[in-house]
Amino acid sequence: MPHGVKCSVDSCHFWKEGNKCAAEKIQVNTYSEERAYKSGDTGCKTFRSSSDIL
Ligand code: SF4
Repeated sequence: MPHGVKCSVDSCHFWKEGNKCAAEKIQVNTYSEERAYKSGDTGCKTFRSSSDIL
């Protein structure tokens, strides 16, 4: 579990109570074609919908 990662995406398979991420590691990418300039330009590539993994 990555230390210091707080996440509020409670629809993610890896999300745990207390806004914790239970993934072994996470990958964060930019969605921008160029550089990321604000947090909204980035996102967690490790996200998996909790309804996808049953
Ligand atoms: S994998 Fe990403 S989206 Fe899912 S709980 Fe961890 S940090 Fe949040």
